[in-house]
Amino acid sequence: MIFITEDIKNYKKGQEILSKISDYKVVKDKNEFIEIIKKQNLSYIDEKKNMFFGVKKGKFLKQYYLDKNFVGIKEEYYLTYENNCPFNCLYCYLRDYYQHGAYMFYVNIEDMFLELDNFKEKGSMISCGIVNDSLVYDNITNINSDLINYFRNRDDIKLEIRSKSNNIKNLLNIDPSDSVIVSFTFSPQEIIDKYELGTSNLDERIEAAYKLQNIGYNIGIRIDPIIAVTDFEIYYNNMLEKIFSTLDRKKIINIGIGGLRYKKGLKKKVLKEVKTDLFFNEIIVGIDGKERYFKPLRIKMYRLIVNKIREYGNFDIYLGMEPKYVWDEVFV
Ligand code: SF4
Repeated sequence: MIFITEDIKNYKKGQEILSKISDYKVVKDKNEFIEIIKKQNLSYIDEKKNMFFGVKKGKFLKQYYLDKNFVGIKEEYYLTYENNCPFNCLYCYLRDYYQHGAYMFYVNIEDMFLELDNFKEKGSMISCGIVNDSLVYDNITNINSDLINYFRNRDDIKLEIRSKSNNIKNLLNIDPSDSVIVSFTFSPQEIIDKYELGTSNLDERIEAAYKLQNIGYNIGIRIDPIIAVTDFEIYYNNMLEKIFSTLDRKKIINIGIGGLRYKKGLKKKVLKEVKTDLFFNEIIVGIDGKERYFKPLRIKMYRLIVNKIREYGNFDIYLGMEPKYVWDEVFV
């Protein structure tokens, strides 16, 4: 079911979206929408079938809170014009972060661009795939064209469009910009099948990245979260072989890798609804309160992946949420 607030009609993006959707209900505000969803006592998957389009009152641009021990993160800033996504990755922290699974989009993007006009942190990257999947609903929102056109005139900062979807039709129809990186999160197909439900499959993601590179887009590779399944090494090696034998290595801007991490609350919520082995391994609680694999296992996984990647070239590789001593042991 689709819900809107009346005031989206006052915005260009609201009118654009309304021309593509029908059969919607008007609600007073976001809180009424959430109340309607919650009253129905839906499963998380069924909550995800609902969409909301409204006007954002708060800030669009946020800074990622990061424990000072973690170093080298590139996604320090992120945009929040969109929350949640219809996919169901069992490790997705949004399940615990928001009180519901429904998709939300805010149409007053003029306000977002005003905020960005005032953002002057030269050299930083702003991600738009931290509380959402950047591409999955782009056929409805067409937001990425607006973002790319804005960042075309900002050579002081970068935009990251991050996704597990191959919904790239709109991207193929506009000129790429050097200030934009389209990042795909890649996982072996065996892991997609078990833990990334509903997402585009590995071949589709690689093909989407390949097509975008062909028309001039810069691509980022994200291998995060790495999941320690049996035969982990074989699965990840096969995946890397597929990626690097297809993509143009010169147009890969950077590669981010990270291990599975999650809060206890997420584990509880997932296990209430789904039977999964995702959370059962040698786990410890980190300084940020998140559970993650024991350090020796993380280092082993990162080393295997980094060394394999290095067989294909010299890339800018970074670790997600790891302290310096882990970096030192991985990048020897
Ligand atoms: S694609 Fe991203 S936002 Fe969507 S469920 Fe998976 S991890 Fe969460």
